[in-house]
Amino acid sequence: MFTINNEECIDCRLCITECPDRGISIEYGPKGEFGNDSTYNIDANKCTECIEFNRESKCAYICPVDCILLTNPEADDVLWAKHKKNKQNL
Ligand code: SF4
Ligand code: SF4
Repeated sequence: MFTINNEECIDCRLCITECPDRGISIEYGPKGEFGNDSTYNIDANKCTECIEFNRESKCAYICPVDCILLTNPEADDVLWAKHKKNKQNL
């Protein structure tokens, strides 16, 4: 799956809407919604590594500071199973 390095993240939120599996969540920091100190997380149960797009990660592609990285690649059958489950839950 992919992981976000929040130390490098500039809190632009582009990745959230880009994820086709709704796998990225935002947690506001002490400064609140517009405080530019949010933390982003990718749900390991939802991230399909964009296998339905030939593994061309939508979030990693859109990220302006390249802080979304493939840290733990998963097998195709695991990713397709998550994809199927995600579509059922949309
Ligand atoms: S790699 Fe794809 S499925 Fe995984 S979090 Fe990024 S956009 Fe979502
Ligand atoms: S696209 Fe990159 S910089 Fe923007 S919020 Fe997501 S992880 Fe942070």
